[in-house]
Parts: sequence; structure tokens; C-alpha cells
Amino acid sequence: MPPLLSLLLATSALAAASQQDVIALFDKRALVKPITEIEGTLSDGSKATVYKVVVRSLPTDHAMGPWSPATLQDKGGYWEDTVDKKLYRVDAEYLKLLNTRGWNMFEADGTVHRTKDRTEFDKVARQELGGWSYDDALKGGVTNSVIELQPIEQIVTIFLPKNPQALAKLTMLRQARFSPRSGLGISTNGVRFFPPEPVDRITAFHNIAPLDPKGGHTGFGHEYHYHRAPSVMDHDTTGKVVGFALDGFAVRGPTEPDGSKPKDLDAIHGHDHGGLGYHYHVTDVWPYILGGFKGPLGTASLGDVDVCDATKTGGDGGKGGKGGKGGKKGPPGGGPPGGGPPEGK
Ligand SMILES: [Zn+2]
Ligand SMILES: [Zn+2]
Repeated sequence: MPPLLSLLLATSALAAASQQDVIALFDKRALVKPITEIEGTLSDGSKATVYKVVVRSLPTDHAMGPWSPATLQDKGGYWEDTVDKKLYRVDAEYLKLLNTRGWNMFEADGTVHRTKDRTEFDKVARQELGGWSYDDALKGGVTNSVIELQPIEQIVTIFLPKNPQALAKLTMLRQARFSPRSGLGISTNGVRFFPPEPVDRITAFHNIAPLDPKGGHTGFGHEYHYHRAPSVMDHDTTGKVVGFALDGFAVRGPTEPDGSKPKDLDAIHGHDHGGLGYHYHVTDVWPYILGGFKGPLGTASLGDVDVCDATKTGGDGGKGGKGGKGGKKGPPGGGPPGGGPPEGK
């Protein structure tokens, strides 16, 4: 066989295999309809075939919550402390630790301060995105509280490049155009991956916004999303594909398939080895899921939509939304350069 022909055959066989994998890897319960392919425009303006994945956005493979404990007798979710960087269960012991710093997280009868409804949650959005001071928030906002909101199911269409392109230059989160609709990508159970929480903006008001035992909580758009991957929270060692980034590359669990710790990860937590192709690994340290993108991005929209034009993605990645002054700070805990707290919650 002429070398060129055999190369072409090998390439198409590879493409066919990866196509099947992407479709097969999604949890059928998450899909509103079968995954299809359409022609779309990626974030760099290039035309490409994209998978159209329509999901329900809430997990069917695990329960959500708890986030805030109702009283000091209860256990809430998990929060990475901004002072000692340890992951704490939000319970009486941790809330008392916060109070030793001059916070005021509960009543004398043990009732924990928490956001009760959408109205309260909206105040949090206003103060965090509007650049309020703690004193401003003391008057008309939410302070000294555990932030939580019940999620609502949403139909979301996410477009993933079918043949991800590895570019020479990485795109850090700060420069990337993603939105709360798209997140950074999607878990195989239909839940969106989000960038690291903007913890400095949250704790500026003596608030915390815990994640549940699977690494998720609810954002300003009522969407349930992950800041940490369930495979990290569950200490999974299968190295399996747990989702896809918005550039179409696979996101794997915290280990390699043989259980070993991933080596030589690049600045955005990806690498290419052993015939697996370029892939990201989730971890229990910043950036938790991924720190940027290897290739041009697809996009996402609310509802069941048929047009993929990622050049119109409204998100501004790391700019913090609506001029929130906290948005220009670096990542919590001094992560790699280029990763900042993004919009959303
Ligand atoms: Zn790997
Ligand atoms: Zn969040």
C-alpha cells in the first residue's frame, strides 16, 4: 500500500474511533437527544465539525448537596480555607474556627447564617460583581453567611470540536472566551466544569460558598456546576475520561489509567503520552479541573440550539464580569500565572 494511503486510512480509523468514544462516553441519562454532528465556528474563527451535545445539566448519578449546615448539629459541604488552604467539612468546628477570625457565622441557639432564597442570593451576586466593600455589604448585602442556592434543571447545548486541534500556544483561563453557559467543558454526566471559585471575592464579605461531596454547587444562573471533579472527591484511580474540555480534548481522572500520578503536566494541567492523545487531568489543587485550553474552543447555549459560533461567546474568561474589582487579582493561593478568578460563582 502506498505510504500516503495507509496514513490516510490510519488517520480516518483513528478519527472514527475517537468519534465513537466521545458519543459512547456520555451518560445516556444526561442526554436530551442523541449526540449529532454539525458544522460550526470555533473561537478562533475556524470552521470545524462539532458534536452537538444537549444535556439536562443536573446529575443523575449522584445526589446534590449538602452545602450549608442548617444548625451546628449538622454537616454541610466542603470549603477550602483561604488561610491554611486545607479542605474543611463545613460543620460546627469549622464555623467556630471562622468566628475566631472575627466572623459571625451562627446564632447563639446554633442556627447557621445562610442564604435562604433567590432574593438573598441575588444580593450576593450584586456585591461580588459590583465591587462593593464589606461595609457596603453590611448595610444592604449578605455577610457572615454560608452561600447556597437550590439548582434548577436547564437544557443546555454544548458544542465540542470533533477533532480537537493542539495549538503551539496555550490559552490561559484569563484569556479564554467561555461563559457561565459553557463553563470550561462538561462532565460525562452532563454537569458543567467551572473554573476555580473566586474565593477572595467571596470571603471579602465573610462568606463561604461550599461544594457538596461531589465537588458541585449552584451558581448565579441556578446552574449546578463542578469546581472540583467527582473523581477527585471520590479518590478515583481508574484514570478514566470524566469529561471534555470546551476545546474537545478529554479530561481524565486524577490518575493515569494504571493508577500512577500524572507526570509533566503543562501549565494548564494537560499532557500527551502513551497513545492517549492530549488530555487534561483533574486534581485536588489549583486549577482543580483545567487551567486553560490547548486548542480553539467550541461554545454552549441555553436550550436546544443548532448554531455553533464560538466567536460570539459573551464570556470574558478571567475578567471577573461587570467590572468587579476583585476580578483582576491572581488566583487564590498564587497558582500559575495567567489563571484568574473568572466570572460566575
Ligand atoms: Zn495523562
Ligand atoms: Zn461555583
